[in-house]
Amino acid sequence: MERLCVFSGSSPGAHPDYVRTAQELGRSLAAAGVGLVYGGASVGLMGAVADAALEAGGEAIGVIPQALVDREIAHQGLSELRIVSSMHERKALMAELAGGFVALPGGMGTLEELFEVYTWTQLGLHSKPLGLLDVRDYFKALVAFLDHAVAERFMTVEHRELLVVEKRAEELLEAFRRWRPPARAKWIDRSQT
Ligand code: AMP
Repeated sequence: MERLCVFSGSSPGAHPDYVRTAQELGRSLAAAGVGLVYGGASVGLMGAVADAALEAGGEAIGVIPQALVDREIAHQGLSELRIVSSMHERKALMAELAGGFVALPGGMGTLEELFEVYTWTQLGLHSKPLGLLDVRDYFKALVAFLDHAVAERFMTVEHRELLVVEKRAEELLEAFRRWRPPARAKWIDRSQT
């Protein structure tokens, strides 16, 4: 994989482990020669992952809408900063540039971005790996909810299994190395209708 897209909080979170893991991911990407694609901010976990990748000699490409350049304090030291005109363009360009997607802990923005690419997987619009870095069990309740959605037959188990969940950056990158696109999973489970 040439580049990985990382979605993450514009806040640093309440515990130092969040920033530590973002930095660990940035360093692991640089060590593996995988470029970082992310939202281009200098704040929170977004800034932490980018700073760590750059400090370790890696590539970091930011994609940010003009309207957020000031609000999220666009990172001025990136390998490349792509300024786009909308949130939609941001997500589309990030997805185009990257060969896979990882969400670190974050808020609504992170969740929205994660779920949009997850639905693109479900629709077969791309076949790139998608995963969560579950630092301090941050995503535990979300993963349990997805299992509930499967149990209640609103989601197929094949689509649930497409989401890789790991605790450490290295483990997630290793899972992505082993990852092979699945035979196209069925979108809608009609077996019960
Ligand atoms: P948050 O997780 O809420 O701290 O936000 C993380 C990042 O997601 C920030 O760069 C937000 O600007 C971004 N974001 C929020 N909503 C969207 C959206 N609809 N499309 C793309 N990025 C978004």
